[in-house]
Amino acid sequence: MSEKTLFERIMDREIPADFVYEDDRCFAIRDINPAAPQHILVIPRKPIDRIQNMAEADRELVGHLLWAGGKIAKEQGFEDAYRVVINNGAGAGQSVFHLHVHLLSGRDLSWPPG
Ligand code: 5GP
Repeated sequence: MSEKTLFERIMDREIPADFVYEDDRCFAIRDINPAAPQHILVIPRKPIDRIQNMAEADRELVGHLLWAGGKIAKEQGFEDAYRVVINNGAGAGQSVFHLHVHLLSGRDLSWPPG
């Protein structure tokens, strides 16, 4: 059996985290090293290492992450000013190879991102 990802260990409560949302397909936690005053990670329970390795059957799951992100942003009062980010690949800043969506809010978010 392959080793669990960091986020699977968090999902299984082996590593503590501040959970803000959970359902049968995903969960959301506050980022341990926030890049904005509000920084939440929306994570599928099923580990997918990166976008290009999604199966066709994962399309609905990944859409669900955006849906859950919108719901969380509303619950957290992000209003309509938040950024939704997926870092895909080490060169693009991905450090945990278990697909996840960042929600960032609470500061000016310039464009293009760094
Ligand atoms: P990535 O760099 O892969 O796009 O995002 C991974 C994110 O996970 C980073 O923003 C990082 O701060 C966060 N992170 C890493 N380890 C932990 C942890 O143990 N707990 C929490 N809550 N976040 C973590």
